Amino acid sequence: EPIEAAAQTEVITKKIQQVMNKSFTIDQHQFNVTASIGLVLFSGQHLSGDEFLKQADIAMYDAKKSGRNMFRFFDPQMQNTINNKVLLEEELRKALVMHQFKLYYQVQVDSHGKAFGAEALIRWVHPERGVVSPFHFIPLAEETGLILPIGNWVLNEACAQLKSWENDASTQHLSVSINVSAKQFHQTDFVEQVEAALLKHQIKPMLLKLELTESMLVDNIENTIVLMKAIRKLGVRFELDDFGTGYSSLQYLKRLPLHQLKIDQSFVREINSDKSDKAIVKTIVKMAQGLGLEVIAEGVETEQQRQILKNLGCGYYQGYLFSQPLPIEMFMVTLQL
Ligand code: C2E
Ligand code: MG
Ligand code: MG
Repeated sequence: EPIEAAAQTEVITKKIQQVMNKSFTIDQHQFNVTASIGLVLFSGQHLSGDEFLKQADIAMYDAKKSGRNMFRFFDPQMQNTINNKVLLEEELRKALVMHQFKLYYQVQVDSHGKAFGAEALIRWVHPERGVVSPFHFIPLAEETGLILPIGNWVLNEACAQLKSWENDASTQHLSVSINVSAKQFHQTDFVEQVEAALLKHQIKPMLLKLELTESMLVDNIENTIVLMKAIRKLGVRFELDDFGTGYSSLQYLKRLPLHQLKIDQSFVREINSDKSDKAIVKTIVKMAQGLGLEVIAEGVETEQQRQILKNLGCGYYQGYLFSQPLPIEMFMVTLQL
């Protein structure tokens, strides 16, 4: 995993530099030291230790040339990747203040085709890059902790939307699902944040749904159950997103205060041709019914897929067949159609 290795190397390098940059005193004289660091990533190459050190040395001189107190990778491509990441991180820090985030809404429908809610999906509307997909910035936001303010913004934005839907008979029944990342969920005051948002916007808590993923449940399951129960007490409901792609223990599944399972789109994509996918979906639906949970399928793109899902007992859908995720103004227009 070269990219991941480079990212971790960067973190360690910064730590070393931070320690080196601390001033110290000898004989009442204060000293400041900076370090230029050269980095080489290797895996499986048949070079000697000396040759690796030579490469690191070259990278180190490059770091000195770049203004000192810097680090440089020997591999220019790796350096490029890290430079881009640093740039993206800087821009991401500004994005919240500059109001560059926007929530798109994707409709969710029942077996009669009637809209009952929407999933809120974040977009970064960047002045030069255009609309940036969450795939390109959520992982970095998680890594840097920026996901905490971003996640809180999403929560409040979704509540504000629910509030504005409350005033109209045609929209007051609609729910909003938001995606919650692991780091966000496990921060110490997440329950309080949800409570504060409910209070601030004065919405019906049952119309707000939080989407968690299976991977979040792997660590610290006992604590997760406690947190989920506290939020459930506020009236807010939970969905398990991308269901079937992680390693949910059935033992835990029955203990979680869940409302809904969301069948991952990878099982829906070829449901009309792939027998195993169909069998898996059938099993998920049966299991959900047994556990008293609702099931929704995501990534429904064709009428044929919808029909098969319906026959298997899955009565809620989300996907391009009904609508793409849309900015709120357009979402409202399609809702009227
Ligand atoms: P997700 O929650 O599983 O969202 C479903 C993704 O599938 C969305 O991608 C959606 O646009 C896409 N999709 C919907 N219908 C179809 C379809 O019929 N076919 C296909 N092929 N795709 C479909 P998107 O919007 O790019 O979001 C990607 C992921 O980013 C989300 O996956 C979610 O995990 C994450 N994400 C989005 N918004 C937020 C957020 O506010 N906070 C956090 N923490 N994560 C978010
Ligand atoms: Mg989701
Ligand atoms: Mg999903």
